[in-house]
Amino acid sequence: SVAYDVDSTAGANPNDLEAFFMPFTPNRAFKARPRLVSRSKDMHYYTPEGRPILDATAGLWCANAGHNRDPIVEAIQKQAAEMDFAPPFQYGHPKAFAVSARIAALAPGDLDHVFLCNSGSEAGDTALKIALAYHATRGNATRTRLIGRERGYHGVGFGGISVGGMSPNRKLFGSLLPGIDHLPHTYNREKQAFSKGEPEWGAERAEALEGLVTLHDASTLAAVIVEPMSGSTGAIPAPKGYLKRLREICDKYGILLIFDEVITGFGRLGYAFAAERYGVVPDMITFAKGVTSGAVPMGGVLVRKHIYDTFVKSDDPVIDLFHGYTYSAHPLACAASLATLDLYREEGLFERVREIEPIWADAFHTLRAKKGVLDIRTVGLVGAVDFESREDGVGRRAYEGMERAFHEEGIMVRTAGDTFAVSPPLIINESQIGEVVDKLGRVLDKIF
Ligand code: PLP
Repeated sequence: SVAYDVDSTAGANPNDLEAFFMPFTPNRAFKARPRLVSRSKDMHYYTPEGRPILDATAGLWCANAGHNRDPIVEAIQKQAAEMDFAPPFQYGHPKAFAVSARIAALAPGDLDHVFLCNSGSEAGDTALKIALAYHATRGNATRTRLIGRERGYHGVGFGGISVGGMSPNRKLFGSLLPGIDHLPHTYNREKQAFSKGEPEWGAERAEALEGLVTLHDASTLAAVIVEPMSGSTGAIPAPKGYLKRLREICDKYGILLIFDEVITGFGRLGYAFAAERYGVVPDMITFAKGVTSGAVPMGGVLVRKHIYDTFVKSDDPVIDLFHGYTYSAHPLACAASLATLDLYREEGLFERVREIEPIWADAFHTLRAKKGVLDIRTVGLVGAVDFESREDGVGRRAYEGMERAFHEEGIMVRTAGDTFAVSPPLIINESQIGEVVDKLGRVLDKIF
C-alpha cells in the first residue's frame, strides 16, 4: 500500500490509503498519486499541506452556495446540539415540515408536496416507485413500464441504473428491472457543436416517445424520466422545445413525466428548478446535492397534488405509501437545508446565475481556440469541453488533465470520457471565472 502523509487524526493507520474502496475511482491510480483535500472555504478547497484548489465543480455539483458558509455551519452545529435524530415514520419534527414547505414554494405549478430521502439515487428510486404505485392505486396496474434516456444518469440504485443510459453503470446489473425502455439522447455534434445554451436542433428527438407508445401501447407506460441537462455524460443541455414536447406527449397518453433535477436544481441553470427555465411542469422532480449545498446528505422528490392526493385520501390510520428511509428528513439535513435556502434567497444566487450566464458562456467558449477541442457547451453556470482522445483509449487524456489540473494548476474539474465538465459554486466572481478558464486553457495546452 502507498504511504501518504495524511492528518494523524484520520484513523489508527493514517498513512495507509488502502482500506477505502473508493467509489467511481480508479483506486490504484488514485492511491499512487492522491488528490487529497482536507479543508474548504467559499470557492476553494485546501490540501492537507495548505495548498488552495479552486473548486470549479462545486464539489460534485453540490456546493452551490460555496463551501463552509457560516450560516450553514452554525445551523448544523446548533441542530447537532439540540436534537440529533428523530424518527420520520409516525413521528415528526418541525424542521421537516418547514423545509418541505420551503422547497415546495420554490417549485413551479402544483408541485407542492415533498418526499425526503438522503441522496439523488434514493430520490430516483423513490420517484420511480411512486410512479408505479400511483398507476396501480388508480386501477391501472398494467402501467409498469419505465422510460429513461440514453446518456441519462439517475444514480446507482437498481431503479436508477435501469432507466439510466450509461452502459458501464448498467452492463453488470442493469437488466434486473424488467420493463424498461429508453429514448434516444439529444446530442448531435454535427448539428449542435459550440452552442451557447440550449441547442437549436434536437426537439424532434422527443418524437421517439410517440414511437415507444406505438411499440408498447400507452396502457403499459408508467413514466418517463429525464434530466433537463444530462450532467454525468458531459453536460448536454436540452434542445430548444424538447422538454415541452415531451410534456405534450406524456399528457396525451397519461404518462407521468419526471425531471431529475439532482444537478439542475437549486440554481445551477439560474432558477430554483430548471422546470421553471423551460416553462414545463413535470409530475415529479427529484433533487439532492444543492438542497443543502452538499453540507449534509439530503435528497427528495417533489410531487404534484394529483399524485399526493392519490395516496393520501382518508384519515384512516393506515400507511399511505410503503416507502421511506430511517434518515428521511434527518434533523441535521433539514437544518442545513433551511440555512442554505435562506442564503440562496438573501444573496439572490439563482438570479445571479442568470446575470452571469452570458459572461460565463463568452469566457468559456474562448477555449475553442485550443488544440484538440471538438465541442464546447455552456448552459446556466455549467461548461463542458470535449477534446480528442488519445490513441491508448478514451478518458486517459482527461484523467491526465484532471491530475495536472489538481497538482500543477490548483483547480478541481470533473471528467466524463474525454470531456472536462465544470460547474463552480454560484458565488463565483468574474475574476474567478477568468481564473477557471485560464487554468483550464493551460491544462489543455499541457495534454496536447
Ligand atoms: N441524478 C443525477 C442527475 C445526478 O447527477 C446524480 C449524481 O451525480 C444522481 C442522480 C445521484 O445522486 P447521488 O450520488 O446523490 O445518489
